[in-house]
Amino acid sequence: MNTQNRFSKRYSFEFFPTKTEAGAEKLLATAQQLARYEPDFFSVTYGAGGSTRDRTIDAVIGTQTATGVPTAPHLSCVGDNKQEIIELLDHYKANNINRIVALRGDLPSGMGLSSSELRYANELVSLIREHSGDHFEIEVAAYPEMHPQAANFKQDLLNFKRKVEAGADAAITQYFFSADSYFHFVDRCESLGINIPIMPGIMPITNYSKLSRFSESCGAEIPRWVRKQLEAYGDDIDSIQRFGEEVVTRMCERLLQGGAPGLHFYTLNQAAPSLAIWENLKLGERR
Ligand code: FAD
Repeated sequence: MNTQNRFSKRYSFEFFPTKTEAGAEKLLATAQQLARYEPDFFSVTYGAGGSTRDRTIDAVIGTQTATGVPTAPHLSCVGDNKQEIIELLDHYKANNINRIVALRGDLPSGMGLSSSELRYANELVSLIREHSGDHFEIEVAAYPEMHPQAANFKQDLLNFKRKVEAGADAAITQYFFSADSYFHFVDRCESLGINIPIMPGIMPITNYSKLSRFSESCGAEIPRWVRKQLEAYGDDIDSIQRFGEEVVTRMCERLLQGGAPGLHFYTLNQAAPSLAIWENLKLGERR
């Protein structure tokens, strides 16, 4: 079990770029609220193929400038050519952005991998290191329950290792609801000589139907007992949120006690669900 950061946990919050001016203002207010908790960084997602390029840039630079919290753009490589990626790297560097979450991204339907200059995230990490040296701290994605398109667990782990060897500094996992899947994954990484911090990605439970649909597509398993209880609550949002908060808080407690180097919250641009877990765990006092 990786315990290297046991005594200096890192906490981060993820946002998505919004489509409207009002959404952007709301996102900034959420970021300002979360900034009071002194997270290590924020990150902002990116639509593969560049669909949110300008909005991601604006949200990243706007959030970092307004809050002072280092903010990392997600950057995916499928569908963007190398020149576009290099221009983005230069733009971020010129605007004092010094972290990046480097991803393959999910292809827009109808687009094959063969039409992409860069096909996998390890190639993107290599390009960032070749072009920008050590300027950016690079996080990559990791999948304790296996990436849905991977041939098998072992291949997925070896592919994860390629990203580390290409120069990734740390990883953030896909969300999961079983602490054991995380511990097992970290143990297997260690046995392959992968020693970078692997931050559990935490998804607060606030809406069952959305969570269920999304989990299906990204390969995150909702344990049967959690699913059954959430289904039984039907439209009773308060009970869903109360139960979800308890389940996720308990899992986070186990993760931190078991040596996880911190937590990365998928906020979906809402402060309250992540902060409820933060307060339950007294994260401010654990640092
Ligand atoms: P990769 O590491 O390239 O892996 C993709 C698949 O290919 C895996 O099955 C892997 O086993 C296999 N593979 C990897 N390398 C090779 C190789 N060299 N040869 C053969 N097979 C290989 N998506 C977005 O579009 N925008 C976002 O902002 C975004 N943010 C995310 C943040 C986090 C923390 C996570 C966990 C995911 C995020 N995603 C995002 C989703 C992500 O883009 C998808 O899961 C995507 O399908 C895989 O991206 P990856 O970087 O893990 O790809």
